[in-house]
Amino acid sequence: MLMTDRRILNFVLKLSDFTSRLRRMNQPRIIDGKAVAATVLEECRIETAALKAKGITPGLAVVLVGNDPASAVYVGSKARTCADLGFHSVKLELPAETTQAELLKVVADLNADPAVHGILVQSPPPKHIDEETVIRAIDPRKDVDGFHPKNVAKLVLEDPTGFVPCTPAGCMKLLEISGIDTNGAEAVVIGRSMIVGKPMAMLLVAKNSNATVTIAHSRSKDLPAICRRADILIAAVGRPEMVKADWVKPGAVVIDVGINRIADPSKKSGHRLTGDVAYDEVAPRCAAITPVPGGVGPMTIAMLMKNTLQAARQLG
Ligand code: NAD
Repeated sequence: MLMTDRRILNFVLKLSDFTSRLRRMNQPRIIDGKAVAATVLEECRIETAALKAKGITPGLAVVLVGNDPASAVYVGSKARTCADLGFHSVKLELPAETTQAELLKVVADLNADPAVHGILVQSPPPKHIDEETVIRAIDPRKDVDGFHPKNVAKLVLEDPTGFVPCTPAGCMKLLEISGIDTNGAEAVVIGRSMIVGKPMAMLLVAKNSNATVTIAHSRSKDLPAICRRADILIAAVGRPEMVKADWVKPGAVVIDVGINRIADPSKKSGHRLTGDVAYDEVAPRCAAITPVPGGVGPMTIAMLMKNTLQAARQLG
């Protein structure tokens, strides 16, 4: 080979290495919720064995009222994960016509059962049942969903003996494990529900996170402009692919909590799941992003197991 040919070859090789590095740099990091959840569950398995060695078998009771198919799937996978970790698992499936008084009696019995450390009544209950009353009836020491007013207060007070709602706790874990620095970051949370949006904002602003937080909601003005401020954008709305590419600051981290079922004739089932973020157009702008499915979803159950272990530890 002539000297000039070798030089040209070296130049081409270097150029191709440079462009592939550039391509890698421009690619977002896909935050793998399944893998992180598996790690959390592995930690749970180890702690379960340690508690059992001390004579404490963690126990979780999951109560489903009615026959909502999506709720039945959630309750089934929660009970299965419990059993897989070696928990004492109670699954109560009550008919849709169960009265509020009957449900409150079930909750009272579970409150009194020493083998049960965590109680979860699957949301949403049938319309004739007042969910708030049921949440308040659960012993706050067993409220592993973290919805009881006493646990909401503990979250605001940053009291670690309280239970943090599982989905936002899962989002924080994803940020932490992915090495995303929240200190001083501008965080925008879209959604102000008690299940996701508000606790998410509280966790981000807490002293161990130190983000500057904006909570946006259905009445916020110029939502795209608010979102463009975000270094960390959390979408918890329930509107398929609402967050578009031009809502996202280049290099932002995007956590998509939304789970929306949309029609897709190309699928055998006729539908597919999608998040609140238009993933295909948003991902190339981000530093990191969670996919749907496989992002936040798997974290919720993992954090529920962690909360149940916390309850078992605290109740003994
Ligand atoms: P929600 O309906 O209780 O709250 C939605 C929030 O979005 C409200 O606060 C509302 O103000 C806001 N909102 C609605 N439309 C808006 C708009 N056009 N612009 C700005 N804000 C708007 O819902 P949620 O329980 O908080 O759940 C939100 C999403 O997260 C849903 O898709 C739900 O399925 C999903 N979710 C996922 C998990 C999980 O495990 N990954 C857990 C809980 C909820």
